[in-house]
Order: sequence, then C-alpha cells, then structure tokens
Amino acid sequence: MASIALKNVSKSFGGREVIASLDLQIERGELVVFVGPSGCGKSTLLRLIAGLEDVSSGQLLIDGRDATQLPPAWRGLSMVFQSYALYPHMSVRDNIAFPLKMARRDKETIERKVTEAARVLNLQDYLDRKPRELSGGQRQRVAIGRAIVREPVAFLFDEPLSNLDAALRVNMRMEIAELHRQLGATTIYVTHDQTEAMTLADRIVVLNAGRVEQIGPPLELYRRPATLFVAGFIGSPRMNLLGGAAASRYGAATIGIRPEHLSLSTSEGRWHGKVSLAEHLGSDTFVHVDVAGLGTIAARAAGDLDVRHGETLWLTPDESCLHRFDAQGRALAA
Ligand code: ADP
Repeated sequence: MASIALKNVSKSFGGREVIASLDLQIERGELVVFVGPSGCGKSTLLRLIAGLEDVSSGQLLIDGRDATQLPPAWRGLSMVFQSYALYPHMSVRDNIAFPLKMARRDKETIERKVTEAARVLNLQDYLDRKPRELSGGQRQRVAIGRAIVREPVAFLFDEPLSNLDAALRVNMRMEIAELHRQLGATTIYVTHDQTEAMTLADRIVVLNAGRVEQIGPPLELYRRPATLFVAGFIGSPRMNLLGGAAASRYGAATIGIRPEHLSLSTSEGRWHGKVSLAEHLGSDTFVHVDVAGLGTIAARAAGDLDVRHGETLWLTPDESCLHRFDAQGRALAA
C-alpha cells in the first residue's frame, strides 16, 4: 500500500497543455476518483501516474520516493482498463496467473494467489472457462483478478465499467467498493460518471480542462461545491442554476438550488410556471417547470405525486440551501 503525490505536474501534447500544474496527495488505502467531462484530462493524469505517459514538468512521488522517471513496470501499480485486455485463448486461471508466470513465480505461489483472487472475486467456478464464455461483468472481474495477484502498491482503474450495461454497472460498482473494503488498497479510479464517483470515492477530484476544480469527500462536494462547474456536475438531476434578477436579489451572479430544496404548491410560491415534464422514478418524482425568464427548474416531489403536463405549479426555494456564485463561478460564503 502506497501513498501517491503529484507535485506541480503539467502535461502538454504538441504544445497544448492538457494538465496544468496539478498538485494532489493521495493517502495510503484511499479510494480517490478522478471525475470530469470527456477530454478534461482524467485518463492522461492516470497514465502519467502509471508511467504510460511522461510528465512535461513536475514530480511524481510513490510512498515519498521520486518515481517521475521510473519505468511503468517498476512503479508497482496495477492498471485495469475498460477493454479488459484479456487473452482470448487462455483460460480464466491462466489469464489471472499471467503476471505471476511472467515474474517466474513458483507453481505453488501461483496456485495459491490465483485461488485467493478467484475467491475474493467469486470466480472459483469459472477458472477453466475462456473469456468468451463469460459475461462482461465476469470478464472485468478476471481483469481485476490479474491486477490483484501482482499485489500492487496501488490499483489504477480507467473507466472499468463503461462497457457494461446499466444494471451490471451498478453491481460491479458495489463489487469494487466491497473489494476496496476487503483489500484496503490505495486505488485511483477514473470515470466520467458522477454517480460512480459519488458512490465509490473516499475523495473525489473534479477535473475541468486539465485543472482541479475541487477535491473532497462526495458529500462535501455535493453540499458545498466550490465552483459553478462542480455545482452543475455533481448531483443528478443537476442543480438548478439561475442568473439575472433571481440571483442578484441574493447578491450573486448565479444562484444554485437543488431539486430537493424546492417545495411545490398549486397555489402560491416564489416562482410559477407550467409543468413541461414529470419523471416518475417510483420513490420520487422530478417535476420540471418552465418559469418565464428563468428557464426550466426541476423540483423533487413525492413518488405518488399526481401532476399533469401543462399544469401551473409554484416553486419556493429553501433559502438556507441556496448556493451563491460570483461572476467567475466561485462559490460565495453562505
Ligand atoms: P479524458 O480522459 O478526461 O476524457 P484525456 O486525458 O483522454 O481526457 O484527454 C485530455 C486531452 O488531451 C484531450 O483534449 C485529448 O484530446 C488530449 N490527448 C490525450 N492523449 C493525447 C495524445 N496522445 N496526443 C495528443 N493529445 C492527446
């Protein structure tokens, strides 16, 4: 188990900077998720840590030791890719054993480690199958098994669940969380999916255009987004963001209010408009109301709410839960 630190790390491709003087400290045993929209630099950052790309400037420390120039194989990190990268002609057993065979470990050690990894990942019954005889989730577990047997000082996951369908993704997400609890290993996990980040992370690093917007535990980012970008990115459905007169009455350029902090009424409130959409999720209903001059505002209501398209509803924000942002998109003190 290792700590990982990035000190003033920058990366350019052909003169274009994609990571800009980034500082980050990841503690031993922590699960840190890099999240942000496509192209923000998440994979590049992970690849810099793995050593698959060289930094343009700055320093990488693994357990306090300078690893900036260390070849990938010497960093002691195991990477799991979304493509699984399994050998199709090898059995599950041989796929998991592969790094150990390459390292010329003895037979008993290999057998013991493969058995242990298969137990942790519930793959005992599949060891003699070929990857094509497995489901997507099982293949991803084999890829994780291959990472585990190397006993890395940290795991690096690059969008490991993007090739799975929605239901499997939720399952695998829980399995990865459980695995992290069992192994307690330092883990860096890259995703564009804020739900994955929220449910898995000890701490989330929100990236935007190669820069860190905010670092913190999931609920801290949810409750106290430091920037407009984080406010709009973390949370589903997203925070309502309002400008103009609605914001200036609170001394802000933009105000944000989450759907669960708006109350609905058929007769009175702060803003009113016509219902353009009601999403019934069973447990909740998200009601989208078109307010003249403000745009569409989403509010959370009870799952059994009876609401008609085109009906007029009133919305009132819980003012103690308003977020205020200045013209640069920085959060103002509450
Ligand atoms: P993300 O993983 O957040 O989607 P990436 O790290 O893949 O983003 O990419 C960040 C930026 O760097 C993008 O603009 C991408 O086009 C660029 N980039 C990534 N790899 C290379 C490369 N090998 N050569 C040139 N540009 C690259």
